[in-house]
Amino acid sequence: MKKWKLAFLIMASFLLVFVIVTVFRTVTVKSKQPAPKPTQAVIYEDAAVAHLSEAITYKTISYQDRSKFDFREFERFIAFLQKSYPTVHRQLELERINDYALVYKWTGTNSAKKPIGLTSHYDVVPVLTGTESNWEQDPFSGAVDNGKIWGRGTLDDKIGVLGILEAAEQLLKEGFAPNRDIYLMFGFDEEIGGDEGANAVAKTLRDRGIEFEFVLDEGGAIVENMVPGVVQPVGVVGISEKGSATAELSIEGSGGHSSQPKDHTNIGRISSAIAKLEETQFKGDLRGPGEDLFQFTAPEMSFGMKYVFANKFIFEPIIEKILLAEPASAALIRTTIAPTIFQAGEQYNALPEKAAAIINLRLMPGDSLEEVKASIEDIIEDQDIQVTLTGSEATKVSSIDGWEFKAVQQAARNVYGQAVIAPYLMFAGSDAKHYDAVSENTYRFLPVQINAEDLNRMHGTNERVSIDNYIKAIKFYYEIMKGV
Ligand SMILES: [Zn+2]
Repeated sequence: MKKWKLAFLIMASFLLVFVIVTVFRTVTVKSKQPAPKPTQAVIYEDAAVAHLSEAITYKTISYQDRSKFDFREFERFIAFLQKSYPTVHRQLELERINDYALVYKWTGTNSAKKPIGLTSHYDVVPVLTGTESNWEQDPFSGAVDNGKIWGRGTLDDKIGVLGILEAAEQLLKEGFAPNRDIYLMFGFDEEIGGDEGANAVAKTLRDRGIEFEFVLDEGGAIVENMVPGVVQPVGVVGISEKGSATAELSIEGSGGHSSQPKDHTNIGRISSAIAKLEETQFKGDLRGPGEDLFQFTAPEMSFGMKYVFANKFIFEPIIEKILLAEPASAALIRTTIAPTIFQAGEQYNALPEKAAAIINLRLMPGDSLEEVKASIEDIIEDQDIQVTLTGSEATKVSSIDGWEFKAVQQAARNVYGQAVIAPYLMFAGSDAKHYDAVSENTYRFLPVQINAEDLNRMHGTNERVSIDNYIKAIKFYYEIMKGV
């Protein structure tokens, strides 16, 4: 045999083996979605809608300045809950922590088992001054129009409070008793950090030795066109929250007259440091909750995309490159840097003696504050620039292998049979982080199917929810309580 023929044969057989192995890996990828057991919940729509509509009319607004809280509205909201959910209030124990955080304990038939917690919050963000007239319906009207309920809090997050209570009321009326204890916990200051609400609740329960199997909070929703290659809507359950930290870069030194400047001024050096950080960036790495998202969605992808993800060991650099090209997906796989404040100079002809910049960072699970600070110092390579870094690291990563995650997934599938339910990493904060103190697992999921526009409405204008979504959210909580 001629030499080139042999070489060709060897190459061809390598290629053949490569194709067989990678295609085999692709076709044997198994779905991680439990088969839906369609919910049998019967929810009385008119009553449920009337409740959410009225809930919106109470102005339970959170302000950064706590002295601005109008607690009469919070008190009226609590009275409204008592009136609307009489069975819950008759049969469950209610405790008020810091007056306005509500903790309902529903004792199960087997209290020896660890309890679960369902949480949401009833405070809402203010309506931005000057935007009131952009609302199609008054933000605190609770108007019901064209299949939708309107107003501040319909999505974030009175739907959670009402959805949970509506489901509990219905189950109690059916004579249902939960298997284990269930705690319903409602915060009143989530929008400003949850210190007096969820944080205080978690501390109180921890002091009593209570430990949850899991706590479920608001978080990711079900969205279409979320993951490339997946036709079905994807519901994402946050299993960890990125850390949030603030870096200050500052330099001090002689200023002087601008007529005889040095080659490198304070402003120039801070600018150059930021330019280097943006140029270098933190390394993207498909791991942790970001990787989990694709593990759960890959089996549902079209063949081409499935092929790529099933053979991640070959294609990882390409996948990462694609993810890093878009800010939303880049944030899933790396610690991000966002310069937000630049301070220097007062007068057009005087060199400032000090220049400083503030950078907001969101940390990946596993990236510690010390490591991030050291990386910044390495990248900027300027000994005269002082770097300080304060903030919080990412929360712990909750399990996706145990029954706890599957219980959330199953309940979601029972209501949204078509949706692919997958874990992911939250970029924004919520009350869930406080419950890390009393729970192995904290999941973050808002059981509604919405689009990007709805997401913007959440803290913006024309917040609203469809009646269909609201009823499905109630059914989801119903399924969770039945399923645990
Ligand atoms: Zn919220």
